[in-house]
Amino acid sequence: MRRVDRKNFVLEGSSPYQDSPQTIGYGATISAPHMHAYALSMLEDRLRPGARVLDVGSGTGYLTALFAEFTVAASEGNDEGVVVGVDHIPELVATSEKNFERDGKGHLLAGGRVQLITGDGRLGYPPRAPYDAIHVGAAAPFVPPALVEQLARGGRLVVPVGPEGGSQELRVIDKGADGRVTERTAMGVIYVPLTDAEHQLKNR
Ligand code: SAH
Repeated sequence: MRRVDRKNFVLEGSSPYQDSPQTIGYGATISAPHMHAYALSMLEDRLRPGARVLDVGSGTGYLTALFAEFTVAASEGNDEGVVVGVDHIPELVATSEKNFERDGKGHLLAGGRVQLITGDGRLGYPPRAPYDAIHVGAAAPFVPPALVEQLARGGRLVVPVGPEGGSQELRVIDKGADGRVTERTAMGVIYVPLTDAEHQLKNR
């Protein structure tokens, strides 16, 4: 996590090195570093050089950049891997691109190893599927079926599930080598909702 400077991914005037979420505008927050650490440790086994990773609700791009450090940045000579960040707020996607540049990681975008896409993350991103690791940074009312579909065999999906502002749990969903899907709950959590852009902007 020291390889990506959180200062480059927060708004000016916020506290980048405090272990708490910070507002990034548009009704969204950058998660607390300890939550990013949990997400990384839950996905670590799948974050190998050459892995394919999808980060749904990528916001200002901090966790996406961390995924890139584990996979594409570490995979010299291995062109297989890709990290895709999807967010439905175009301004946040533009900010995340700028933040990659600020953090000295613009070459990953230029080389196509990291793609930052504007779109509805509930639908995943089929063009680069299947994914070895999928992370969702916002709480869904139910597990989006498209994300389970786009999970590779042996892959893992980490997704907070529960009502907006209510009791949510972090689910860990594995697809076995035989394609069988299993699910467990890791812990109780609080995330902003995975929702329609229009609904989210009302919370601003
Ligand atoms: N993962 C980032 C941001 C978390 S905030 C971080 O940890 O710092 C949640 C993000 O999910 C917001 O940026 C919000 O715009 C996005 N989001 C919410 N619903 C979405 C949807 N349906 N499709 C894509 N992005 C969505």
